[in-house]
Amino acid sequence: MSRLVMKFGGTSVADLERIRRVGRLVAAEVRSGKQVAVVVSAMSGKTNELVAWTDQAGRAAPGLPDSDDEYDAVVASGEQVTAGLLAMVLRNMGLNARSWLGWQLPIITSEAHGSARIEDIPPANLSASMDRGEVAVIAGFQGRTLDGRITTLGRGGSDTSAVAVAAAVGASCDIYTDVDGVYTTDPRIESKAKRLAKISYEEMLEMASLGAKVLQTRSVELAMAQRVPLRVLSSFTEPGEAGEDTGTVVCDEEEIMEKRIVSGVAYSRDEAKVSLLGLPDHPGVSSAIFGRLADANVNVDMIVQSRSRDGGLANMEFTVGKRDAARAVEIVNAAKAEIGFEEVAVNEDVAKVSVIGVGMRSHAGVAQSMFKALADKGVNIQVISTSEIKISVLIDSAYTELAVRALHAAYGLDQL
Ligand code: ADP
Ligand code: ASP
Ligand code: MG
Repeated sequence: MSRLVMKFGGTSVADLERIRRVGRLVAAEVRSGKQVAVVVSAMSGKTNELVAWTDQAGRAAPGLPDSDDEYDAVVASGEQVTAGLLAMVLRNMGLNARSWLGWQLPIITSEAHGSARIEDIPPANLSASMDRGEVAVIAGFQGRTLDGRITTLGRGGSDTSAVAVAAAVGASCDIYTDVDGVYTTDPRIESKAKRLAKISYEEMLEMASLGAKVLQTRSVELAMAQRVPLRVLSSFTEPGEAGEDTGTVVCDEEEIMEKRIVSGVAYSRDEAKVSLLGLPDHPGVSSAIFGRLADANVNVDMIVQSRSRDGGLANMEFTVGKRDAARAVEIVNAAKAEIGFEEVAVNEDVAKVSVIGVGMRSHAGVAQSMFKALADKGVNIQVISTSEIKISVLIDSAYTELAVRALHAAYGLDQL
């Protein structure tokens, strides 16, 4: 019998009426003869509210041991509510169902509270539940360490819970959300964005890590590594209503017939730019800066260095996540004497806009089209970074929408 994991995000379980519609979608799959497990997020807005409470409680009071373990105990609670409610709704529909929390299943994770990685899901409980014809309703986003503390998987982590559960029991994975698939860009920013019937794992991985939050990056990595068949679908339809031509299949590149040069445009406003001015230009400077940041677990993304013509001094700019910006400055300031810079500045009003496509591997001129489209709109590029299948630029965040729409048009994505 085929096995299916269905995942429902926050807006899909935002109230009881929507949870009942989720119940009908689940019931339809069960009645079609599949063994079904469900992974749910917290009701939309709930996790934000819980996070705000932990901030108010003084999560990181200076000088005291950090409370990230208690942060997880608090923010994991949103998913417990929806798992229980959906199980009740399913029972009322005559189905056999029960809720499972991360620690009960169990979903064993690393100890990195707030952004833990799933390490193991012993499949015995879930397999037995599926074989009994019971719908396991699993709280997403949460797990437990080997020694029993509650953990969470980072924002958007229920996608990863779903893919990991599917991998553990040999199921395919359908991610139900508030859009009917993966689009060429965020449909909230560009109404001309087009749904992609298929997207390769690699492109989806880049889209997700460059800001398209429709799937958590780690969930795509896992699906790719474990060969989990993955689809993105809308939860806002009744069973059978959407027809065949719906959703997006995330699959191997070889399964996609039409080859596009660029498949999508992504953006992220979660960046901050740190500038170090007046650096000595000799070996060891970069190592001194980035070594310290790495030791403090601060992830650095884009980097540029430039040297002034006279005086032999250099300037360095790099980006970090917004929430790490203040810490990055503290760290470099603490090593000012050794690094020897004159000034450090932070700019949080920046955004990273990226174009993604496997076709870039074999086509020249993709970067030039990007630079021209931005120049035509008067958007200044502050930093550029590229990889085999993406080009990213850092710009003033006030121009984010303008840049996304200009690039969407420039690569013909409006016309798909
Ligand atoms: P859920 O609560 O179901 O997990 P999310 O809010 O995490 O949903 O993700 C869905 C949202 O992702 C959409 O509402 C959309 O605004 C956004 N999004 C960003 N980029 C894309 C894209 N390329 N395709 C589809 N949705 C996107
Ligand atoms: N509820 C969590 C969040 O808002 C996890 C998720 O929705 O995937 O980040
Ligand atoms: Mg999400």
